[in-house]
Formats: sequence, C-alpha cells, structure tokens
Amino acid sequence: MTMRTYRHFVCPNGHRGEEKTSENDQPYSKHWEQVTLTGMRAATSIQNGEGERFVCLQCGADMIPAASSSG
Ligand SMILES: [Zn+2]
Repeated sequence: MTMRTYRHFVCPNGHRGEEKTSENDQPYSKHWEQVTLTGMRAATSIQNGEGERFVCLQCGADMIPAASSSG
C-alpha cells in the first residue's frame, strides 16, 4: 500500500504550491519515499534550520505553509 501525504503552500503573491509525498508503508518490503513538488521548488540554500524551504516557481518568493483544512 502506498501512503500519500499532501502539504499545501502559498506564496505572498497568491500562487499555490503543493508537495506530494508518496511513501511505501508495507512492513515487509523495501522502504521508499518519493516527493513531488508542484508549482514550487526546493530552495537551494537550506541552512541547518528546521525543515525545508520552498520558493515559488512563478515569482521566486518564499512559500508559506497554507492553513490546511483536514484532508
Ligand atoms: Zn508566487
């Protein structure tokens, strides 16, 4: 079974981005994880901070985690 997790982001100019993580949660098979980014890309300079940063593909602004309604 594949578990998919979605996280939504928005930039200050209103562009939307999405991070989709597909993860294999089968107990007896090899673990794998695949991350697909839509509308944004990972920021190149990741310092030793918490988590990752993303920038907008359209305007290059920092993406902000969008308030997520469950689901
Ligand atoms: Zn933008």
